[in-house]
Amino acid sequence: MTRDPAYDLIIVGGGMVGASLAIALAGRGLRMALIEAYPPGVDGQPSYDDRAIALAYGSSRIFDAMGVWPAMRGSAEPIHDIHVSDRGHFGFTRLAAEDEGVPALGYVITARELGRVLLEQLPQVGSLDVIAPARLLGFVDAGDRVSVEVERDGLVSTLESRLLVAADGGNSTIRERLDVPVQRWQYGQSAVVTNITPAQAHRNVAYERFTDSGPVALLPMSEGRCAVVWTVLDAQVDEVLGLDDGQFLAAFQQRFGYRLGRFEKVGKRAAYPLSLLRARESVRGRVVVIGNAAHTLHPIAGQGFNLGIRDVAALAEVIDAASAAGSDIGAPAVLATYEAWRQAEQRNVALATDGLARLFTNPLSLVRMGRNLGLLAMELLPAAKHPLARAAMGLMGRQPRLARGVPFE
Ligand SMILES: Cc1cc2nc3c(=O)[nH]c(=O)nc-3n(C[C@H](O)[C@H](O)[C@H](O)COP(=O)(O)OP(=O)(O)OC[C@H]3O[C@@H](n4cnc5c(N)ncnc54)[C@H](O)[C@@H]3O)c2cc1C
Repeated sequence: MTRDPAYDLIIVGGGMVGASLAIALAGRGLRMALIEAYPPGVDGQPSYDDRAIALAYGSSRIFDAMGVWPAMRGSAEPIHDIHVSDRGHFGFTRLAAEDEGVPALGYVITARELGRVLLEQLPQVGSLDVIAPARLLGFVDAGDRVSVEVERDGLVSTLESRLLVAADGGNSTIRERLDVPVQRWQYGQSAVVTNITPAQAHRNVAYERFTDSGPVALLPMSEGRCAVVWTVLDAQVDEVLGLDDGQFLAAFQQRFGYRLGRFEKVGKRAAYPLSLLRARESVRGRVVVIGNAAHTLHPIAGQGFNLGIRDVAALAEVIDAASAAGSDIGAPAVLATYEAWRQAEQRNVALATDGLARLFTNPLSLVRMGRNLGLLAMELLPAAKHPLARAAMGLMGRQPRLARGVPFE
């Protein structure tokens, strides 16, 4: 007789997506392990750095149903309006929370703050072993279980589980070991991120501006600051990071314009190379690939984590239903349900984000004319705006119960 694996579920990666999955499944009677390369709360953890994350309204509802939103809400600045324009041209459109009957289209929170709340919650999750700092070295899918090889403090051990979840980020070791085919594209661009303080109040408006040299976003933050995401060519990154504060403010002002008055202060700057990656499969045997491991997107539309947290909500629902029915949560039929549910949305959001990044970086005048007409048509036809607003809020397609604000019972 074979013995049962020690765990029902092993999650590799304690970034925003992996940590969220462990919390979403708290109290559901599952024996879980979370393996993370960095010690909890350490400063150098790249998933929880100072970049601002625009959380869609739908994502805030998921966190609310998971019970963590009250702890995040105080550090999250609401987005009441989104203003999309093509700088120096006639096209623009505006989305408003009021028109959609929601308190906010989304919220802006730093990855650090989001991480702080998630990491504080992890010890409250019963029957979860947080194994960190530790690294997954390899794994074997033995048909009825997965054996996972982990290194911790120089010691290698083997853990067994019904299901292995790869939430190990864009360079996922697990996805690579599975040899899952991926669609990959380097944009030759990087996002320079920082925060600035404009002379005028941001009034909780998020600006998405398309300029001849790439898109820029300005997101409302606390204390009158705005988060900046400025897309520059890779070849210009060193030059932009090397600017002193005054030079940076002047250069960004020229790119964005004076809609918020003069930019007065700027914070620390960091650059992230931009690429697209989409795994063509998210399930193999007893392994599921989620979050950035399954799809890494251009941050132009702020969709990366929002897509990842919807993966979490859907996977948690499928696992919980299987577990409640007494089924094996890693069985192919269970995981096929998850994959079928998420595949179309993952593909559509990746394609739409990629299309947007290319369309709005194309300097050809005919393309520019077309996109300006598109924006203007959107502005003049409220019926066309509503689906865009629903997509921006993460409320399209079949909503998992957590996204509908319904906790597991
Ligand atoms: C500039 C920028 C701005 C962005 N803005 C937004 C936004 O506004 N809205 C939005 O929704 N998204 C945004 N994103 C995307 C968002 O940051 C990502 O989608 C999100 O961080 C992905 O989380 P993750 O947990 O899947 O991956 P990660 O954050 O990469 O976490 C992976 C984790 O796995 C661990 N790990 C990796 N390998 C191993 C191993 N072998 N063993 C153990 N542990 C391992 C790592 O240490 C890490 O903690 C932005 C991204 C960038 C770069």
